[in-house]
Amino acid sequence: MARILVTGGAGFIGSHLCERLLGMGHDVISLDNYFTGTRENIRPLTDNFRFEAIRHDITDPIYLEVDQIYNLACPASPVHYQYNPVKTVKTNVMGTIHMLGLAKRVNARVLQASTSEVYGDPEVQPQTESYWGNVNPIGPRSCYDEGKRVAETLMMDYHRQNQVDIRIVRIFNTYGPRMRPDDGRVVSNFIVQALKNEPITIHGDGKQTRAFCYVSDMVEGIVRMMETPDLTGPVNLGNPGEFTMLQLAEQVKSQTGSGSEIVFVPPREDDPIQRNPDISLAEEKLGWRPTVQLEQGLDRTIAHFDDLLRSTAS
Ligand code: NAD
Ligand code: UDP
Repeated sequence: MARILVTGGAGFIGSHLCERLLGMGHDVISLDNYFTGTRENIRPLTDNFRFEAIRHDITDPIYLEVDQIYNLACPASPVHYQYNPVKTVKTNVMGTIHMLGLAKRVNARVLQASTSEVYGDPEVQPQTESYWGNVNPIGPRSCYDEGKRVAETLMMDYHRQNQVDIRIVRIFNTYGPRMRPDDGRVVSNFIVQALKNEPITIHGDGKQTRAFCYVSDMVEGIVRMMETPDLTGPVNLGNPGEFTMLQLAEQVKSQTGSGSEIVFVPPREDDPIQRNPDISLAEEKLGWRPTVQLEQGLDRTIAHFDDLLRSTAS
């Protein structure tokens, strides 16, 4: 059994990952500054004596003894990563350097949670790992997109220069229970709006597309990547089912039985028009493909938000 550090362990994906790793019998340390993550997310894990939580910011160095590091610390919602863009860059650059320095010192394997945003507003459909992307270096999304691109560069350079054992996954839009109701990402926004019978807000004309992966599928792919020998990546992880935001709004409305109206609000600056992963590499190298379809994943996520809204209302 391994000693595993999960940065961003109190976040949405991070908390599911910690739970999964504990279930496999590992010792797990969650490291988080609770910017977007919550102690509530990891509360069910705290009874497990193999679990520890540290409040720490990865822009500061930390000295620990671990065998594996999953580096997930970074706000993922455009609303949150644009709140303090300089901090977002620091988290991706200084934070990744600190995790790579730690990995180098203790000879740990380190996995970087990269993103489909490294492809920017892609001119190639679907996106393969060999595509270099179409990223605006000076826009409001750049702190995240370019930050994550530098993080990938650092991973590769520590690997080539210092033989650090690295893994890079490029995560496409992921959703599920434990997203924050005020997260600002599309799935949580639409579900919360629908459950409150408030207008469902579509940015732009709603023809932009995304492909949505349920969180348990994502965690499975991330763990397989960490455990596969001799594969640095990057490897795309996502669900190749592509939907327009208008289709998503209608689907959420229908599955919640909501009377919300669908309204169109101004588009977000530099909002990618189309995004869809080519997951052939993950299928070939990890034997992985998502198993939870959108309808089923939405049902589980709707149930989560329904419970949450009822408990906060009472
Ligand atoms: P999240 O915002 O729920 O989780 C991020 C976690 O990192 C939070 O717990 C936050 O408090 C913590 N954090 C942020 N800055 C930190 C810092 N400086 N030091 C310590 N902790 C810090 O987001 P998520 O959806 O769980 O995303 C997790 C990772 O996956 C992120 O790196 C994100 O970029 C990547 N990713 C997610 C998606 C997605 O659709 N969810 C898509 C692509 C990539
Ligand atoms: N979006 C929307 N309404 C919302 C939130 C988001 O129409 O209330 C759109 C957004 O403009 C983008 C897509 O949904 O085209 C996905 O946005 P999200 O913030 O979830 O993540 P992104 O993929 O842009 O990082």
